[in-house]
Amino acid sequence: MSYIYLNGDFLPQNEAFVSVLDRGFLLGDGIYEVIPAFNGKLFRLAEHLRRLQQSLDAIHLQNPLSNNDWEHILKQLIEKNGGGELSIYLQITRGVAPRDHVFPKNTQPSIYAMSSPIEPVKATSLQKGVSAILLDDPRWQHCHIKAISLLPNVLLKQEAAEQGCTEAILIKDNLLTEGAASNIFIVKNNCVKTPPKSQYILGGITRDLTIELALKNNIDCQETAISKTDLLDADEIWLSSSTKDILAITQLNGQIIGSGLPGPMWQKISKIYQTFKTRLK
Ligand code: PLP
Repeated sequence: MSYIYLNGDFLPQNEAFVSVLDRGFLLGDGIYEVIPAFNGKLFRLAEHLRRLQQSLDAIHLQNPLSNNDWEHILKQLIEKNGGGELSIYLQITRGVAPRDHVFPKNTQPSIYAMSSPIEPVKATSLQKGVSAILLDDPRWQHCHIKAISLLPNVLLKQEAAEQGCTEAILIKDNLLTEGAASNIFIVKNNCVKTPPKSQYILGGITRDLTIELALKNNIDCQETAISKTDLLDADEIWLSSSTKDILAITQLNGQIIGSGLPGPMWQKISKIYQTFKTRLK
């Protein structure tokens, strides 16, 4: 039985309930974070808490806890759930109030955190890469907020799954934005490229770390606009996320990318990334 954190208490999961008037449930009025823990240790916590604060600021909700309190709660949650490789999901909603779009006054936010094991990426996905489809990005203009209202992402990811693909890569106005649940990189002539941060993408913590590690290791890396043609013409394509690390995409819309296998730049960055992770364990 896993333990969850809910509004100040640690509870067995089957004993934790939220109100049917919670604004997260009724209106999707809340934000979330996903923080990985490797070997029981929170990874890039400061960066995740910074993004949490940015999401809260964007929806005009005060952070209910200090960073020290967050760290204390999340460490307890990891311990109660046995440590190891965990994905910590935390969510803050605007709380319980009669249903009305306008913010309620004097309402306590609802705070929730759970953990689930990170499934190791399949050996075949590492050896052969994964496939993706290209879809139009139908989402709103605030994709930099990690909002719990994920219906567009759910529909996009479902379409990818129905076509036997791991990810949907999204195009807005002929430009690459991101994946339905990841950031996207391409490699062209030994240069690593990813779209700049904007209101159209989530500023991924793995994305930022990938750029940081590439530059530290003298790999040419640019944050720049990427067109649909650039994407289809890339030597390599990667996705990045906290629970999948950096993964090579070797087929896009049924078309082989590069050699059809994870490319040399992916081999290089992936090794650097894994070494960085292990060093922190
Ligand atoms: N973009 C979207 C839409 C996501 O949902 C995610 C993660 O789930 C990411 C990017 C990658 O972010 P991170 O590297 O912080 O996990």
